[in-house]
Amino acid sequence: MLELRPTCEHCDTLLPPDSLAARICSYECTFCATCVDPVLSNACPNCGGGFVPRPIRPSQNWKGDNYLGKDPASTRVKHRPVDPVAHAQFAATLKTIVPEKR
Ligand SMILES: [Zn+2]
Ligand SMILES: [Zn+2]
Repeated sequence: MLELRPTCEHCDTLLPPDSLAARICSYECTFCATCVDPVLSNACPNCGGGFVPRPIRPSQNWKGDNYLGKDPASTRVKHRPVDPVAHAQFAATLKTIVPEKR
């Protein structure tokens, strides 16, 4: 189950569970759409993987208690801003390789 982390790791903008701007890597490192392309070049600073839109967990109990009321979003902020210069170096090769080939 995804933690649904509350903010972008880089710019600390709020990413509530219904946000359409939340992006995650396979480890659920969480960033906003505004940071993923221009700042990160679609390369996660923690694992090098690509990002996809984070799915929205239903806010209502449509079936079997599988909803935010039972499984709420995390409130634990992870704010680990990247150094843009260091990240540009890290991402220089990665951004030339599509995520499915990394
Ligand atoms: Zn951001
Ligand atoms: Zn990652």
